Amino acid sequence: MTVENKVALVTGGSRGIGRATSERLARDGVVVGIGYAHDETAALDTVEHIKKDGGQAFAVHARLGGAGDAARLWDAFDAAGKEFTPDGKLDILVHNAAAGSPTGLASLTEENFDEVFAVNVKAPFFITQLALPRLRDGGSIINISSAATRISSPHMIAYGASKGALDVFTLALAKEVGPRGITVNSVSPGIVLTRNNAHLQDNEEASAQAKARVALGRLGQSDDVAGVVAFLASDDGRWVTGQVIDISGGLAL
Ligand code: NAP
Repeated sequence: MTVENKVALVTGGSRGIGRATSERLARDGVVVGIGYAHDETAALDTVEHIKKDGGQAFAVHARLGGAGDAARLWDAFDAAGKEFTPDGKLDILVHNAAAGSPTGLASLTEENFDEVFAVNVKAPFFITQLALPRLRDGGSIINISSAATRISSPHMIAYGASKGALDVFTLALAKEVGPRGITVNSVSPGIVLTRNNAHLQDNEEASAQAKARVALGRLGQSDDVAGVVAFLASDDGRWVTGQVIDISGGLAL
């Protein structure tokens, strides 16, 4: 896989799937901007870990979900990344940061709905709009979706719908930017052991029930997702575009 000398931005790159993806891309030779919102310590720790491993990274602080967030993100990217990408250009954009909505329709609030769509849909739209002049031809955009678009999940109905919107964004955008050799894909993890599934780490019964739904017989790790993102960002992934790729180990097949 050839990704050396490339520059990436991973939103939510400081934790969980985003962190594993950032570390994997950096191991492959990519300079990675690590987006984060609330926890600077986790972002700096990720950058340090990448540097110790011989890679290059910088932390990009911007909280997504409010008016003007996309412009603020790129300002932060330019300020923090000028040593690595003086012209602000990049090759790989991973929309990974997301807000949750662990509730059914009956108790869903307008406030939560607006937050979920602002972070999971609106932010990727406008971050990408501002990214297109910066993204080099032949680059890649990878949207982190969810198996909740395939498996009926009424207990997180707004979250699932937001990821469905992201998949439609993938399909339409892939056609628009295809002539520039830019690929756009969604990847859909199932159950991944990040802080969002911490309850499965300490509860054997719940963990066994969850594993029983996975064809490959275990729960996902962040690295399982990172490897597929790295493939899509690499030259080997150059002929894959406009797709939604399930990476759930065969959840609820
Ligand atoms: P996570 O461990 O909770 O990490 C979330 C990351 O996003 C952190 O770096 C966080 O930074 C950042 N973030 C959160 N809110 C933000 C905001 N408003 N603005 C900017 N950054 C923000 O998440 P994860 O479980 O790895 O999930 C990553 C992605 O995979 C998400 O898109 C999620 O929907 C998807 N996914 C996860 C699973 C799963 O089982 N875990 C399954 C399917 C899909 P701070 O800590 O600084 O806020």
